Formats: sequence, C-alpha cells, structure tokens
Amino acid sequence: MKRERSRKLYQQACEVIPGGVSSPVRAFKGVGGDPLFLQRAEGPFVHDADHNRYIDYVGSWGPLILGHAPESVIAAIEKTARDGTSFGAATHKEVSLAQKVTECVPSVEKVRFVNSGTEATMSALRLARGFTGRDRLIKFSGCYHGHADAFLSDAGSGVATLGIPGSAGVPAGAAQDTITLPYNDLESVEATLQTIGDTVAAIIIEPVACNMGMVLPQEGFLPGLRKLCDQHGALLIFDEVITGFRLGLGGAQCHFDIKPDLTTFGKIIGGGLPVGAYGGRADIMDTIAPTGPVYQAGTLSGNPLAMAAGLATLEELSAPDFYPSLEKKASSFAAGINEALEARNDPAYLNRIGSIFYLWFKPGQTTPPMNYEDIKTANSERFATYFSSLLNQGVWIAPSAFEVGFVSSAHTQSLLDATVTAIGKALDAAAGV
Ligand code: PMP
Repeated sequence: MKRERSRKLYQQACEVIPGGVSSPVRAFKGVGGDPLFLQRAEGPFVHDADHNRYIDYVGSWGPLILGHAPESVIAAIEKTARDGTSFGAATHKEVSLAQKVTECVPSVEKVRFVNSGTEATMSALRLARGFTGRDRLIKFSGCYHGHADAFLSDAGSGVATLGIPGSAGVPAGAAQDTITLPYNDLESVEATLQTIGDTVAAIIIEPVACNMGMVLPQEGFLPGLRKLCDQHGALLIFDEVITGFRLGLGGAQCHFDIKPDLTTFGKIIGGGLPVGAYGGRADIMDTIAPTGPVYQAGTLSGNPLAMAAGLATLEELSAPDFYPSLEKKASSFAAGINEALEARNDPAYLNRIGSIFYLWFKPGQTTPPMNYEDIKTANSERFATYFSSLLNQGVWIAPSAFEVGFVSSAHTQSLLDATVTAIGKALDAAAGV
C-alpha cells in the first residue's frame, strides 16, 4: 500500500505541529512508522490521503457508533448550520438534549454541557470538591479521565503507549490530593477510606475501564464502591465518556445497575462533534453557578451544531432494535476472533463487552485481565507486527497495544467476516516476532 502523501504531510506537520499530531495517541509511537493522515470517511470506512480505504474499528475513538457521516446526523448538522453556528446563549436544542439524557440515564437529574470529555471530568471533580467541602480524590490506575492536572497519574493508554509515567508540568500541589489505587481492589479502597475517608470528595472510575486495554469490573466491585462512598460521604463519579450510550441508552450504570452521584459523558453524546457533559443528582448539580458557588463556564458550551448531532444520534440509538442488533454483530465478530485465536493456540485473549473489544497480547492467557499491572504485561512488539499487518490488509485499529476497538452499526456481517480473516493473517504474522 502506498502511503507517500501521508508521509509527506507528516513531514510538513512536524515543522508546525509538535510531533506532527494534535493529540499524542494519533502518533505511531507504540507501533513504529508514520501516522496515517485521513481524508474522508463513510459508513464503516476511512480513506487516507493516498486514497487507501480501511475498515475502521477506531470510530474516532468511540463517538461513531453509527459509523461515519450517517445521513440523519449530517442532515441535522447541515440544517442547523444554516441557522447560525454559535450564539453563546441558551437554545431549544440544548434543552431537548438535556431532556433526552435525563430520560435515558436515571441517575442524571440535571446535566451541564461542555466541549470535551476532559472538561466534563475536571468540572465534575471541582463540583464534587465544592459540594463536599473536601479535596481528596480516589482514582484507579490505568483509568484515563482526560488530561486535567488532578487525573494524570497512572493515566492509562496515552501515557502508557509513550512509556512516560505521568506528565511534566503538573505541579505537586495539583496532584497531591489524588490517590491512585488498583482497579478491582475493593479492599485497598476500604483501607484507604478507613484512614482518610472524611477528606475524600469523590471516587472517580471508568465503570468499564477502556483506557488500559479493557478491564471489566469484577462482581461486587462497583456495588462495593457505591456502599463505601455512602458510608464515608464521598461522591461516586462514573466516567462514562466511552461507555455512555455505548453499552445501551443508560450506559454502564444501567448495565450494572449502580447509581453514581455524578456521571461524565463525551464522544457519542455529541454524535462526532466536540462535546462533553456532566450530570447527576439535582441537589449536587445546583451547586454549579449560576445557582451555586462552583464556577464553570464555556463560550461554545451547548453549541447548536454539537447539540443537533447529539440529538440526531441519540434518536437513532433509541430505535428498539438498535442495541440488540449491535450486540448480535459484535458477539458473532467476537466468536470469529476467538476461533482464530483457538486455532493458533491462544496467542492473545479477547475481552469484550457489547460493541467494545480488546485483544490482549498475552500468549496462553485464558482468564481476563483484572487491572493495569496485568495489562502492562502485553507483548507490545507482537502487537506492533499485528497492527502493521492489519493496516496493510486495509483494517484500521488504534495504533497501541493498550487501546480498545469499536464495532459500529455500519459494519456489515461480510465486513466483519473479512476482518476476522485479516485478523487470522495478522496473528500469523505476529507469531514470528
Ligand atoms: N474520560 C474517558 C473515559 C475517556 O476515554 C476520555 C478520552 N478518551 C476522556 C475522559 C477525555 O475526553 P476528551 O478526549 O474528549 O477530552
């Protein structure tokens, strides 16, 4: 496959954009080679600057559950754009989207729109601190909650791919109130809260961890966190930037039947436009300005284009058959991958929930990963060969051994079958490494 134009664009980009990319996960640091420059996309496909076509399992890192450029979403964006792209004032569309979110997610009584997942999580943390009058935060290693200072300790895939522990430029003071504990280890949370429970504002968690490959919560872990938060007066924040509207209209919290106090959203909620949101119990949410003393604001927040794209997307997701049909596709895809793995003596382990999947390059592994320490034992060299083979066969996955993939409603059965065949070949190529 020729990638001359991508290569040239990368050279030009490196002169004017640090590392040639607008977000580090787009660089090919974990797999070698130059990043792809993408030009256009439709349905399940992306096309690069050299006009190569790939079946896409990145889906813009999660938002594109309907695939690329779905008719209804594009029509809504076009129509809305003709009426003006931004007002910095209240609009009908944000009320409609807020109503839809509160209907779908029972723990969310009120919601505030922002422009990214990072903004959602950093605002939710400030709100939790303002509401409880406490400073400390418990997070879990390998979980990513955006790039705000307080969250950048053991922050999962992006930093793991680059092989750096956290980030320069985070003052000690900004991170000193963050306590990082192992995922799925309820005892360590209990022990921590027993000593300093009255200083902890919140526990934040990805209810399914999707930024350290994929780690599922063990039975009892999420209910245990709920109970401990209630005992110690801390708020439970579910970061559903990935799982929100991905695992069903009610996200992971409905899937596992746990009610967090606050939830953060991003990605799907904006239908592929820049958006984020945080919401939860009305008494907590009313602590935000202008009703309360916690300040958070945004010129483009509730932007009409993003609201229109989000509304059109959630409309499609509300069709009764949407999630069952996506699950059917994803489970038959997973069955195909598992057959390919078994036929080759399990060179990797497939973890999946709904339409999110992760191939953990851990030969001979027959049980799922429990935490970040487990995940880090993945064989990144083998992954790099697997990645290149898939790319050369026209399959686009995230360029990191620590990222998940997404099936969208635009993937047809024949494309999924073709992908399974390509995965078999890529596994064979990686076996020699
Ligand atoms: N939380 C989670 C769980 C995420 O996966 C991400 C981004 N992948 C974020 C927060 C940050 O979102 P954004 O990149 O939109 O700032």
